[in-house]
Amino acid sequence: MDSLRKIDIKYLKGVGPKRAELFAKELNIRTFYDLLHHFPTHYIDRSQIYKISEINGDMPYIQLRGRFISFNTIGEGAKMRLIGAFSDGTGIIEIVWFNSIRKLKDAYVPGNEYILFGKPTSFNGRWNIVHPEVDNVASVSATQGLRGIYPLTEKLRNKGVTSRTFFTLIQTALSGIKNFRETLPQEVLDNLRLMPIAQAIQNIHCPANNDALQKARFRFKFEELFYLQLNIRRYSKKRNASVQGFRFTHIGNYFNTFYHNQLPFPLTGAQKRVIKEIRADMGSGRQMNRLLQGDVGSGKTLVALLCMLIALDNNVQACLMAPTEILATQHFQTISELAAPIGINVKLLTGSTPKKQRDLINQQLTEGSLHILIGTHAVIEDNVVFKNLGFCVIDEQHRFGVVQRAKLWKKNNIPPHILVMTATPIPRTLAMTVYGDLDVSVIDEMPPGRQPVTTLLRYEEQRFRVYQAIGQRLKQGRQVYIVYPLIAENEKLDLKCLEEGYETIRETFYDYKVAYVHGKMKPAEKDYQMQLFASGEAQILVATTVIEVGVNVPNATVMVIENAERFGLSQLHQLRGRVGRGGGESFCILMSKPNISKITRQRLEIMTSTTDGFIVAEADLKMRGPGDIEGTMQSGIAFDLKIANLAQDGQIVQLAHNQAESILDADPSLSEPGHKILAENLTMLFDHKIDLSRIS
Ligand code: ADP
Ligand code: MG
Repeated sequence: MDSLRKIDIKYLKGVGPKRAELFAKELNIRTFYDLLHHFPTHYIDRSQIYKISEINGDMPYIQLRGRFISFNTIGEGAKMRLIGAFSDGTGIIEIVWFNSIRKLKDAYVPGNEYILFGKPTSFNGRWNIVHPEVDNVASVSATQGLRGIYPLTEKLRNKGVTSRTFFTLIQTALSGIKNFRETLPQEVLDNLRLMPIAQAIQNIHCPANNDALQKARFRFKFEELFYLQLNIRRYSKKRNASVQGFRFTHIGNYFNTFYHNQLPFPLTGAQKRVIKEIRADMGSGRQMNRLLQGDVGSGKTLVALLCMLIALDNNVQACLMAPTEILATQHFQTISELAAPIGINVKLLTGSTPKKQRDLINQQLTEGSLHILIGTHAVIEDNVVFKNLGFCVIDEQHRFGVVQRAKLWKKNNIPPHILVMTATPIPRTLAMTVYGDLDVSVIDEMPPGRQPVTTLLRYEEQRFRVYQAIGQRLKQGRQVYIVYPLIAENEKLDLKCLEEGYETIRETFYDYKVAYVHGKMKPAEKDYQMQLFASGEAQILVATTVIEVGVNVPNATVMVIENAERFGLSQLHQLRGRVGRGGGESFCILMSKPNISKITRQRLEIMTSTTDGFIVAEADLKMRGPGDIEGTMQSGIAFDLKIANLAQDGQIVQLAHNQAESILDADPSLSEPGHKILAENLTMLFDHKIDLSRIS
């Protein structure tokens, strides 16, 4: 297979330099290897012939057998099209071509029998097929059986490239290749009875039958996930083997005093459990890299603080990083309020910390008199030097990647323990794939007394009623969030929407003060506006998703989300977590435009039917695929899956994980002869990405 990675696709008969360029640009296909790994997304049974009278709205691709009755050209210039009337005796369907009109008109002879293959669409109440594949009945036996449909782009389609083009090119390429080198070790093939590579390539493109196709797809899905697992796990194993961590042996004064005198409320069972897990890990002698998962409001901050106190008791410093200035400030307030009374020195460092304060912080950090530093990315900058940093908390993982974590590992000779906190409930298969290098603790219990948020779906025509309800809550002294989408591709329009919304709200609720934040504001302005709302001086906050993470205003009990249909479910869930924080019965109102599709409505109804973050995340993964979740995670181990699907292939993820583990346990350096292929493939697949095991 290696040599195939080196042969430029332009040398394949039927490609040439122009198409090669197009393939590279549109689908990232550059070599023979890439082409052979451009897999069909679905398959059509070409032995089945439909009747024109059977055509209905739910059909994907179908096959018809019949004759052209007539051809007509309609329109002129660029709009010219060729229309053929095709009949099979049960009805007539229009066949439409926009390209190569003259050529086609001569190619197809009225009266001869053809097999058409394409997707029926309805236009002006009539069925037609645009650019079908057309075969002479005589030549059809060769194309029968299962036929793959290849993913294409609009541009490729416009240039006349069809699914069939790929089929033909791939068959040409395959006919010239004598043997494939196996890309998985024999033991793995044997363990899981996987189809060998040559057979799998053949069957994924041109399945002998359905069974062979399923085996081929399974093999490639497995292979893809297996190499991902192998890559992730070898890093953490290498680190664990080579890197010593701090051994926190005892619990001392800070922890005990706080726990007995300062604890604001009894810990939940889940909080106690995860603190134990973290403590055991930090006492083990290896360096901890742990993910702390807990739904919004589950009380992660208190866990973080208690763990920081354990660190202080073992004579090291601690730091906490948050993704935004607002959040960092809020953490600083919470934590210094709790910790200062027992003599702990806590400071805040962000991009807007004045020089003088910065100098003081740096001085205290190097002396060791600063115990806990809280801040934004500013904390990991190289000029921030600790005397002895031993424990580090990162809040909201999805804004911090592995690369940032690696920077922290370097902050001390002995790399500090790292606790990553996230409120994004990550389904297990996804966690294994994206965070395979982290151990996981889960807070699966809410502090007592939380009232679940009631979520409602409302449409534009109900806006007046919604405003009435908001008015009532405001009268009772409650505060209200109103959230607008601000999504990069539509930024200008979105901002306008937000600004108009702000004006409307001010006019409608003229008795109240309205604050206003979005991500494009200067930090100082944003903080000022947030503070207005947090202090209660403003009763309404009009905002974008900048309020998504962490902001804590218990008196705010209503959230209205405008254009809710444009948000992802997990994001809606995060936003919703801002209400229901102790200020009494809370509502989240999802405002949607009226004509949403059935699927969109079903998505939004998941929000109205559950407040469980894991259910929401699973549903999100199933309905949208993992793309968005991964996208926001910037995991640093960038990958996009060609064939495996994290939402559906959970079991294969598990198999891949088990195989990778057992191989690495037996042969951590992958140096056994049978594993040479693994080391080679890892290099090829991942080496252009950073080797994170070497960063520290
Ligand atoms: P998150 O996990 O979303 O970061 P926080 O740490 O901000 O949640 O906690 C949410 C709220 O719950 C805070 O107001 C916090 O003081 C409160 N809280 C945390 N732990 C408990 C507990 N054991 N009992 C009661 N309230 C708690
Ligand atoms: Mg939090």
